[in-house]
Parts: sequence; structure tokens; C-alpha cells
Amino acid sequence: MLGTEVLDHTKKPKPDLSLHRVCKGKNDIALQLPELKKLLEVLKRKRESCCGNDGDGEKCGPGNVFLVGTGPGDPELLTLKAVKLVQKADVLLYDRLVSNDVLEMVGPDARLLYVGKTAGYHSRTQEEIHELLLSFAEAGATVVRLKGGDPLVFGRGGEEIDFLQQQGIQVKVVPGITSASGIAAELGIPLTHRGVANSVRFLTGHSRKGGTDPLFVAENAADPDSTLLMQHGLPANTPAAAVERGTTPQQRMVFAELNDLADKVAQEELVSPTLIIIGKVVALSPLWPLSSKEASCLMEAV
Ligand code: SAH
Repeated sequence: MLGTEVLDHTKKPKPDLSLHRVCKGKNDIALQLPELKKLLEVLKRKRESCCGNDGDGEKCGPGNVFLVGTGPGDPELLTLKAVKLVQKADVLLYDRLVSNDVLEMVGPDARLLYVGKTAGYHSRTQEEIHELLLSFAEAGATVVRLKGGDPLVFGRGGEEIDFLQQQGIQVKVVPGITSASGIAAELGIPLTHRGVANSVRFLTGHSRKGGTDPLFVAENAADPDSTLLMQHGLPANTPAAAVERGTTPQQRMVFAELNDLADKVAQEELVSPTLIIIGKVVALSPLWPLSSKEASCLMEAV
């Protein structure tokens, strides 16, 4: 299954600590971008002044990187750990799925860097993000990498951990509420329910090559007793919901049976990020079987 492929850490190479703290001149990105360079210099100066000439190793070593899950959007779904880190970070890197409400919690002296993909903006590659995280950690900063939902659910968090650990940088992960459970809760859909759904699967609609290679969804993913986030061959009348920007004030959604879902999503012009929940449990939502229009009016009025 795709999800397993994305999350497979079994091939993780052992961290190579021999690279630890070798000054590698890895600031290529910063050199390309003056404002980042300036920021790195400020951080280095701050560290030098607090270390002094004979500063102790620990204080003057690299900073930490925290991979922090911010949940699906509603800031009240942040963990206390996430709030504390967001408020104390020196530098925060965030992407498209992190809501503005969460960004408003950032401390006044912290620097926020957008590293997501939005039409019209330069989008950073995963490698560039790795280098940025490394550069800031090497400059001694407390670096927070914010990720929507949970950082280790389709978030490429594992790749960032791998890379940084190989460079000798300590990475700590703060889990977040994954959009699947956050949105299911919002809609009153139990992801599992005795006698209705005895398992739940999280599947991605994105392939590794960015959508060019064929998606493979295992046939057993079409188990009628499971709750799915992506389907392959389930009965046409299986209840389903699609939710755009779930748990935020901009939330929009449609409910439909599977055979009508694509049409209704197109009709309502739902765009990314949209989560699809498929399974008999969807019909347990207090909002089912309202028509899509009524449902979205209801939610918009909240
Ligand atoms: N780490 C995230 C998932 C990242 S993959 C998590 O745990 O939720 C990005 C996909 O997640 C989106 O394409 C969408 O399907 C889903 N998603 C994340 N946040 C969402 C939100 N607020 N509303 C709807 N879908 C969301």
C-alpha cells in the first residue's frame, strides 16, 4: 500500500555521528537568499556572544530541530507541547497546511519561513528544506519545523529525521492530530465502530513521483468493513464525505454515496487540501444524509 511505502523507515541508515559538528560550509541556500543569510549571521552572533571564547561545548553545540504537528487547522487542536515550542522557537519553517491561527502564536522575535508549495511562489524542494533545517541547527537555533496534522503521517517527517540524524543533529518529534481523526471528530464520524468498521486505513492520493506514476491501491483496501480515506472498488452506495480545509473557519464539505462523490466534489469545486472519508461509518454522522448543499451551509454557519 502507498502509505506503507511513504512511512517505511526500515531502511533507515544508522546516524553517522562522525559528521558531528564538522563545519561544512553548508549554507548554500543562505548565500542565495540574502535575508536568510542575515538571519543565520544574527543567530551565529547570538551564539558566539553567549558562548564567549571558552564557551562550553554543550551550549555552543548545534541547536535542536523539533518536528511539530499542528493538527488539521483549528489552533485548539494543538498539543501543549506544540504551543510551548511554537512560542519559544528562534526559527520556524512551515508549509501550506499550517493554519494562520497557529502561526499567530509564534513569539515576537522568532523568524517564520514559508517552505510550502503554492501556485505562483517558488517552492522549495525537500532537499532545500533539509539544508535549511541543518543550517539553522548548525547556527545553534531552536528550529521548529511545523507540519499540518501529524508530522509522521504523509508528512515526509521521516525523511527530515533521517537526514538530520545523519548530520548529527538531534530531532524531536511532537505528534499532532492527523487530519483524518480531527476531521472525523468534527463531523461526528467514528472511524471505527463495533459491527460497522473494525479497521481504518489511511491512504494517500499522491504518488511518490508527484502523480505521474500509477497509483496502486491494494485490492483488499476495498474492504466494506473498513473505513477508507481512498477507495478502490467498494460498493457504489458506500457512504462518503469529502472535506476541504477541515476544522478551520473555511471548512466546506460534501456527503455523497461513492458513485456520486466525484461529481459532487467537482460541483462544489472542492480544492486541496481535501480529505475523503469512505465507509459505512460516514452514515453515522449526524449530518448524513443531508444533501451536500445543506451540509455545507450548516457548517459555514457555525
Ligand atoms: N500530515 C498530515 C497529512 C499531510 S498530506 C496529516 O496528518 O493530516 C496532505 C493531505 O492531508 C491533504 O492533501 C489532505 O488530504 C489532508 N489534509 C490535511 N489537512 C487537512 C485539512 N485541514 N482539511 C482537509 N484535508 C486535510
